[in-house]
Amino acid sequence: MEKILFLVHTEADGTLSKTVLETLSAAQALGGEEWAVGIIGGDTQPAADQLAGCGATQFLAAEHQAFTHSRYATDAAAAEGLCRASGATLVIAPHTARWARALPGVAARLGGRVDTHATALAIVNAVPAVTRCFYRQRMEGILTRSQRPWFVLVEGGAYPAYDGPGGHAPVEKIAVPNVATRTTVTGIRAPEAEEQTIRPDAKLLFVAGAGWTKKQADGAIHAQEAEQLILGMLHASQASLGGSKSLVDLSGEGQTVLKCMTHLNQIGQTGATPRHAKGLATCCHGEEPHVVGWRFVTERRAVSLDPNCGWARGKADVVYVADAFEVMRHVNQMLVAGR
Ligand SMILES: Cc1cc2nc3c(=O)[nH]c(=O)nc-3n(C[C@H](O)[C@H](O)[C@H](O)COP(=O)(O)OP(=O)(O)OC[C@H]3O[C@@H](n4cnc5c(N)ncnc54)[C@H](O)[C@@H]3O)c2cc1C
Repeated sequence: MEKILFLVHTEADGTLSKTVLETLSAAQALGGEEWAVGIIGGDTQPAADQLAGCGATQFLAAEHQAFTHSRYATDAAAAEGLCRASGATLVIAPHTARWARALPGVAARLGGRVDTHATALAIVNAVPAVTRCFYRQRMEGILTRSQRPWFVLVEGGAYPAYDGPGGHAPVEKIAVPNVATRTTVTGIRAPEAEEQTIRPDAKLLFVAGAGWTKKQADGAIHAQEAEQLILGMLHASQASLGGSKSLVDLSGEGQTVLKCMTHLNQIGQTGATPRHAKGLATCCHGEEPHVVGWRFVTERRAVSLDPNCGWARGKADVVYVADAFEVMRHVNQMLVAGR
């Protein structure tokens, strides 16, 4: 029988991220009778208490100030300690940047294997099976492995977040591994929340296409107004910003660009595949290499001048054949008025 460890790290402030809670739902889907939660962080009790009602039969923790921040050496040592203490054969972890960096090394240390970007877990023919996409999300595969321990990193957005009861969880703290570190975390520099345009947790994905920088009906380009409308929409709705390849590539060609857009915003075959519940594409043609990045966006709408665009040919649920400048002016007014 598999011994399952649900392995998480707290955020710097001791809380658990939404991805952790979603991955807990994935671990629960395996239906193990005896499974453990392993927590790494500076103060792990609040996180354990939040998960007290999840059904785990054991709560383990590696607790030390050194685990407050992401750092490969300490994360890998703490994760290794928890895996050994639990005797886990199957380790389920959220696909956070921190775990994606540290856990493959831990799997190697323990002689196990790791699979990343899992989108579903299930028991198939009495063994755990992992679903993940291949070839830029075009094919879906279900795989099993004989090697143990098997580490599986589950993508955010693939499961609903765990919302079960809290309580008091009795935590067994393991001896903190003493590792030599060369990296000292002196602080974190990150863009202000308002400047941050990529928001995986947002309810809406707002996508801007190259049309925003093209000549409009009056024969002129209105890139400045385009940027104001897009940023106005983002500020008012806290949506996440995506872009088409044509738009994010424009800066490299020295053309009029939207400064808020970088290659990190690109959605599609050679870009990102976000998982927002709703998406709104504007001034974007909806070609297949772009729309393939919308695979996991549940409800899709588009505003395009072209009634023959890709969105109108079955790629979107609703298409507004309209001038996106006009539409977004109204939408922004309504968003501001509704605040
Ligand atoms: C190998 C390969 C990989 C690729 N990977 C990606 C990828 O990852 N992501 C990606 O996005 N693309 C990708 N592409 C490119 C993709 O095929 C398209 O060229 C690109 O998505 C087009 O971008 P666009 O729709 O923004 O621009 P355009 O095709 O120029 O479309 C602009 C649209 O805006 C509309 N428009 C203009 N003004 C307005 C207005 N005022 N109101 C409303 N609508 C307006 C126009 O009618 C037009 O439909 C890839 C291509 C290849 C060959």
